[in-house]
Amino acid sequence: MTSELILIVEDERAVVRGLEYGLRNEGFAVVWAENGRRALELARGQAPSLILLDLRLPDMTGFDVCRQLRLEGQRQPILMLTARDEEVDKVLGLELGADDYVVKPYRLRELISRIRALLRRAYGEFSTATTPTLVNFGQIQVDLERLLVYRAGVLTELTPIEFRLLRHLINNPQRPFGRDQLIEVVWGYDSEIGNDRTVDVHMRHLRQKLEDDPANPRWLVTVRGAGYKFQT
Ligand code: CA
Repeated sequence: MTSELILIVEDERAVVRGLEYGLRNEGFAVVWAENGRRALELARGQAPSLILLDLRLPDMTGFDVCRQLRLEGQRQPILMLTARDEEVDKVLGLELGADDYVVKPYRLRELISRIRALLRRAYGEFSTATTPTLVNFGQIQVDLERLLVYRAGVLTELTPIEFRLLRHLINNPQRPFGRDQLIEVVWGYDSEIGNDRTVDVHMRHLRQKLEDDPANPRWLVTVRGAGYKFQT
């Protein structure tokens, strides 16, 4: 069994060191983001099982990070780390999609038991129906957790970019996304790599790999004047 990956989003190195040590001791794998921008990149690229999110970050607030992740269709549990009790009302009231919170200073034992509870709730046997990691359409099966795609039972190689593009569309069925939105999601905010043409090229490759008739796609459809969507 591979260890579950926890993304720690926190700018205070001393806090991070303590967390890393404690979580690794408990058998978790850990990645660390020191600001919000990096957190979004890592969440998109590494698909962590859970995100520990500090509210106070140098470039944006934990609220912003949380909101953006949910907008992008990221569904992993988010545990907010708040500095004061008064911030708790905000965490709960704004309906940002955070799943739980702890107030600093916290005890490591308490934090770890909260993490385990959230992971059980999100991925445990009783909740698989609400957080599907396997998505089927036509002859295609997508394993969102293990980042694998099968076509008629045969493993189909997707590039990381193609997978991110596909995952984003699947996580938001029927919703059209413009090319600029997809660039933001797949490549990151102010990336210079992506342009409209890049999205079209990757979409064409995806269709060639997944559609029976790539010229007349059934699932990954073009929405005139809007962009692309995953049609169920
Ligand atoms: Ca902080």
